[in-house]
Amino acid sequence: MMKLNLSVWGCRGSFPLIGAVSAYGIQTSCFTLESERALYILDAGSGLRTFLREYEKRSGTDRKPVHLFLSHLHHDHVSGLFDCQSLAAVSEEIHIYGPEGQNGSLKNELDRLIGPPYWPLPFSELCAGKVIYHDLIPGMKSAVGDLCVSTVSAPHPDGCLWYRFEEAGSKRETVCPGSSVETLSGTPLRSGFLYGLDGELKEEIFPELKGFAAGAGTAVLDAQFSPEELPLRKGWGHASYRECLQFAKAADIKNVLLSHFSPAYSDEELDEMSSAAASVSDRAVFVREGMQIELYL
Ligand SMILES: [Zn+2]
Ligand SMILES: [Zn+2]
Repeated sequence: MMKLNLSVWGCRGSFPLIGAVSAYGIQTSCFTLESERALYILDAGSGLRTFLREYEKRSGTDRKPVHLFLSHLHHDHVSGLFDCQSLAAVSEEIHIYGPEGQNGSLKNELDRLIGPPYWPLPFSELCAGKVIYHDLIPGMKSAVGDLCVSTVSAPHPDGCLWYRFEEAGSKRETVCPGSSVETLSGTPLRSGFLYGLDGELKEEIFPELKGFAAGAGTAVLDAQFSPEELPLRKGWGHASYRECLQFAKAADIKNVLLSHFSPAYSDEELDEMSSAAASVSDRAVFVREGMQIELYL
């Protein structure tokens, strides 16, 4: 059994709410997963900058190897990368993993996104040669740090990777038949952590993703819209808490962390959805920026 600390640095979708105050937070997607030996950053939305400022305060001896996983290159998942210099300062070696670009390698895609003519210098130059790029495709499985990471293609415009993290070398690296460990609220939590942002979850695609997600102890899923607004946003690539909970039930996922909330929603609206989700499942949580959760794999 392995303990990890999951932290939420940004849980809004689309764009940050600059100047607003919200108990759920204002920054876009960024989570960190920290084990004893490595630091895993999950997406690099605007929340990455908050994390980097916190991380700067740590002494050099507390620093760990850094592995940054990008689900896809939509702006709300990469805008924190514009602060290249703070990122370059976190470690001598930063591994960035992400989907192979449609027009070339991940490195080329990031240099296109953060580089001339849209940014003064290319990302790779600004990071002072510290970044090592790893192009990923769906269906891969590999050891990264002290974890085993696998990927699957998620239903989202322009493609998106979901990641599943397991303890490296554990007997079970894709399906977990319920090992008994401590959990979010004291009941047994099974192994496997799924990072599933973004995704338009429709019942017809459940079978495709179910095997990948099966039996995960905890999953982060995309609850961008309310069930009422979702029908108006077909093709936008997102779900509501309702589809997330249906999917979690189908895939036998224990704890569901709902995230990627539309910036249009007020705290009152999110509170309402959070209560509605909790009435369907007592293992569903609408995350908030700054939340920290202990996970056991
Ligand atoms: Zn997004
Ligand atoms: Zn997206």
